[in-house]
Amino acid sequence: MIAVFMETRDGKIKKSSLEALSEANRRSADIGCEAVAVLAGPEPEEAAGPAFSAGAARVHVLVSPALADYSAQGYAMALADWAREARPAALLFAATAMGRDLAPRAAARLGVGLVSDCVKIGVRDGRLEFTRPIYAGKAVLSCRLRSSPQMATLRPNVFPLEGAAGGTGEIVRTDVVIPDGAVKGRVVEVLKEQGGEIDVTEAEVVVTGGRGLKGPENFALLRELAAVFPKAAVGASRSAVDSGWIGHQHQVGQTGKTVSPNLYFAIGVSGAIQHLAGMSSSKVIVAVNKDPEAPIFKIADYGIVGDLFQVVPALTGEIKKALAE
Ligand code: FAD
Repeated sequence: MIAVFMETRDGKIKKSSLEALSEANRRSADIGCEAVAVLAGPEPEEAAGPAFSAGAARVHVLVSPALADYSAQGYAMALADWAREARPAALLFAATAMGRDLAPRAAARLGVGLVSDCVKIGVRDGRLEFTRPIYAGKAVLSCRLRSSPQMATLRPNVFPLEGAAGGTGEIVRTDVVIPDGAVKGRVVEVLKEQGGEIDVTEAEVVVTGGRGLKGPENFALLRELAAVFPKAAVGASRSAVDSGWIGHQHQVGQTGKTVSPNLYFAIGVSGAIQHLAGMSSSKVIVAVNKDPEAPIFKIADYGIVGDLFQVVPALTGEIKKALAE
């Protein structure tokens, strides 16, 4: 079986986990096994529904009050213990902040290899073959893992999601014992971002601004453009973040977040390789830059050469009109 860890937020499975499960379901058909979901928490079965519609043959729930809040140590221990017993052929995670934290720790506990940030999974000689970008997106690497379970994290917004409405099916419960003192960190408080903004990794449209914006106040132009779309977020280059114009949680790139939205606007962003590393797998890229030689135009599907202070308000107006028609 291919098992996929399901990350939850406010009691709901995250879309990126359901994407990973959808891919596991497709690949399990290729290698003649089944895909299952793994949920952890004090009462994790309550969240299980969407996992069934995304293709889980079963949902395994790892239950303990000690799993109420995420802790890398507690979750890695619970997952690794479960995997030793259940012996899945593969164990996958979404490459979110939590997945990137948890998967290597679980892999270390199991003594197996891990491929991080995969953008494609194939099957060769009956084993999974993982493809991931390397050298900040300059090259791609395909590899297979000899160890078992084969472990990988899957980049969000790359793998198509199949059904996430809800459903029912077999739930297999495992009561987990986390020894006292095994978890060294304690969650004291979870602070929600103010204003209820969508995270750039979850958004279908990302409107990113760079140093070309010239100051923090001009992010208002990008927020106006983002507001035209139902599920959009504002991103930023590292230069904009380092200048203190916007918070680091908005940064896209090698040392920021990796996004693959349906539509990505790069506005006043030059297109440095470290920026491309975080957004080059976006489905459609629109670049606005006054420099026709800016590297961002090499990967843009649509390039607008012009002053962003004129182009962006015009673009916002035209898109508003088009969407209203
Ligand atoms: P610039 O390169 O200064 O580009 C500004 C652009 O705006 C220019 O192309 C200019 O022509 C255009 N412009 C100016 N005025 C206007 C106007 N009025 N209208 C239209 N266009 C205009 N960068 C990231 O983004 N994310 C990362 O995660 C990241 N990680 C890094 C990690 C390392 C180890 C290193 C060394 C660097 C990293 N960087 C990262 C930095 C990266 O190398 C670039 O410095 C950065 O991306 C540049 O940001 P920028 O495009 O906003 O600024």
